[in-house]
Amino acid sequence: MRFDLITIFPEFFAGPLDHGILRRARETSLVDVQIQDLRVFTKDRHRSVDDRPFGGGEGMVLKPEPLFEAAEALLGRGLGSAEQPAVDDPKTAIVLMSAAGTLFRQETARRYAHLDRIVLLCGRYEGVDERVAEHLATEEISVGDYVLSGGELPAMLVIDAVTRLLPGALGNEASSQNESFSAVHDMQARGGGGALRETSGQASPAPTGSRPPMEESTALLDFPHYTRPADFRGWKVPDVLIGGNHAEVANWRRAAALEKTQRNRPDLLLR
Ligand code: SAH
Repeated sequence: MRFDLITIFPEFFAGPLDHGILRRARETSLVDVQIQDLRVFTKDRHRSVDDRPFGGGEGMVLKPEPLFEAAEALLGRGLGSAEQPAVDDPKTAIVLMSAAGTLFRQETARRYAHLDRIVLLCGRYEGVDERVAEHLATEEISVGDYVLSGGELPAMLVIDAVTRLLPGALGNEASSQNESFSAVHDMQARGGGGALRETSGQASPAPTGSRPPMEESTALLDFPHYTRPADFRGWKVPDVLIGGNHAEVANWRRAAALEKTQRNRPDLLLR
């Protein structure tokens, strides 16, 4: 998987790319992260990437030309014009980081993990000329309902979330199959029996009628984890986890995951 970051702050990424899973993924060539300084694609003496907004108002807006030209140089092909729109490459995403984009979710990360290449456009100032969102980017993505000062941190979140889903990225130490948002728990009425069951990400068949299907697949948050000491300042690890009965542990974890999802993210259950 290749990631290309287009940014006016190329130095920004030195730290985040150099630790843990991301560092290892780069060292083993599972991912290749290239950073492109947007200013290289300016033509004026001041190397200006931004300009004042048409219609007036505060702040500056990133100009379209440098972003189009940077992406074209990276991809080695023209990215179109009004007369001749570019044809999308299904294995490449050009992602504009934007507070006004669609929400980046675990399912977005899973979809991206199947691509060959992701170009991430990092906005700054008041944002980016809308023609970038409409005609250059294949997607406009927000990492959450808040406004940050630039697209660099959001782009980093996307790289991190996607990289850890690539086969081999987590090594033996962990699996990305059973995490928050990822585990597809079988929510069929089980009367308290049975363990948390993985359905290996297979989607249940689409419902035909307007009523929800009997068997609903829901992405829960992760269950709570505990490690030693079993008694920390009087706060004890739940007995069932120490007991060693696998079925009871699985039941407890399923119930705890459900309870925690209900408490912290009831919207996930409603989805
Ligand atoms: N005026 C814009 C915010 C601009 S913030 C608005 O109100 O929507 C400057 C840049 O930071 C944006 O162009 C975008 O690239 C990035 N950014 C800010 N918040 C973001 C978010 N929640 N998700 C993704 N990118 C974000």
